[in-house]
Amino acid sequence: MNNYMDVLITTSSTLDGAKIKQYFGIVSAHVVAGTNVFSDIAAGLSDFFGGRSATYADQISRIKAQALTDLKYEAIELGANAVISVTIDVDEVSGGGKSMFMITAYGTAVTLDKVHIENSEDTKTGLVTGNVLADAIEKRILVEQHKSAPLEMTNDEWCRLLELKVPEMGDFIEWEMVNSGLKEERLFAYVASIDFDDSIALGYKLFEKTSKEGELRTIQKVINKMILVDYHRSISLLKSKSNSLAHKKAMLNTIIKPKRLYSRDDINLLNELIDTVEASFPTIAIFKKKKGLLGKEKELWECMCSQKENDADDSFCKSCGRDKRGFKTEDTTPEKAIRYLSMIKETLNEALPAQ
Ligand SMILES: [Zn+2]
Repeated sequence: MNNYMDVLITTSSTLDGAKIKQYFGIVSAHVVAGTNVFSDIAAGLSDFFGGRSATYADQISRIKAQALTDLKYEAIELGANAVISVTIDVDEVSGGGKSMFMITAYGTAVTLDKVHIENSEDTKTGLVTGNVLADAIEKRILVEQHKSAPLEMTNDEWCRLLELKVPEMGDFIEWEMVNSGLKEERLFAYVASIDFDDSIALGYKLFEKTSKEGELRTIQKVINKMILVDYHRSISLLKSKSNSLAHKKAMLNTIIKPKRLYSRDDINLLNELIDTVEASFPTIAIFKKKKGLLGKEKELWECMCSQKENDADDSFCKSCGRDKRGFKTEDTTPEKAIRYLSMIKETLNEALPAQ
């Protein structure tokens, strides 16, 4: 499969030096800003930016980038390696006193026989503009200032660093999480500003680094809203001995949501994931025998909450309502997760084109 980064996107209908080998028809991608991804970013960022108008344009450009990335995935799915004649529409929709955007990107998916066309930005001219230099200097100063204490960064500085695409931002997020707690809006803004593959790696890395349940929920929310689910990483997280039950339970909530793009390889991965889920939640209750009133032995189990007096045939703990593996009925239990995963697998099997 092609990498989405290799898919070429252009507003023109032809490309010098590249012949169109095959047409796949029109592909489109919509991002409704205000009801899904955008609402989270916007909700976090409105206080964040204090309503600066520059930010508004900045948010739109992030959503546009999102739509273009989705367009690339549409092209990959068809087997194309480029999208030509690309147009982006931004429609403003007002409803319920709230303003929303619908960003639509569309173009024609094609296969070009020559994909290594140089991007104009990458073309080496031997010259550097003063603007590029000014950005690089500002970046150096900001990184230098905040390297030892990213927490003291103001939200404006944070956003400026995102615009400048500072690679250290991922480390800053991690540093912040470990030292003072994760800031959800900063994480959303950062994840929205980086490449898809990098955001997956970051999401899972943070997931593994935190031990607080609230943060696990936040990271899970980011992984699901930004569609960063990755089966390989989920399997190794579930298998890892160093991860707590809270981690593994949060992972169950994460993997029941679909991932971004599927191929036939995912059928095998889903099977492996289902097996892993099945094996990852052993009984943690401690069984004990106790002499009853008439000298008859009675079997009891001790729950993780340290309630010792549960009868052997009690499915749930008397005190906390958890079962012998530590699950409450409202939790995503392994059985529930396996049901969802099987459903994804079966539906995928039908949706994938026959080989
Ligand atoms: Zn209990």
